[in-house]
Amino acid sequence: MSYAYDATNIFARILRGEIPNKTVLETPHSLAFEDIRPQAPVHVLVIPKGPYVSYDHFAREASEAEIVDFTRAIGEVCKMTGVALDAGNGFRAVSNAGMDGVQEVPHLHVHIMGGRDLGRMLQPAG
Ligand code: AMP
Repeated sequence: MSYAYDATNIFARILRGEIPNKTVLETPHSLAFEDIRPQAPVHVLVIPKGPYVSYDHFAREASEAEIVDFTRAIGEVCKMTGVALDAGNGFRAVSNAGMDGVQEVPHLHVHIMGGRDLGRMLQPAG
């Protein structure tokens, strides 16, 4: 089995410049922008520019240059938004994948959320 990437997803459209975004950071292989429905005072999405559906897809198939760039972009976004631990109070980095992960947009994205106490990571199973 191989990963299936749907190039009509909304983040692919953002990358193609077809719909606007509030860019926080752009690097050669990554883009970071404000989440349209923020769940915390800081809520930024970091995505690779390449066609990866999920973190496992990216971790297995992206080039080393893409992986370094994406990881550094996450670090830079944490610094720029003031949540990095060298100066701020911290954050949560989340990447939902697939059906069980309740992923809405099928292009890898890491949510960087902070600026308030985020509570426990998961609700108890109901
Ligand atoms: P997930 O459930 O992890 O796939 O989250 C997808 C996220 O993308 C949600 O937090 C949405 O608010 C966000 N989102 C959807 N469309 C846009 C958009 N056009 N610009 C910015 N964020 C978006």
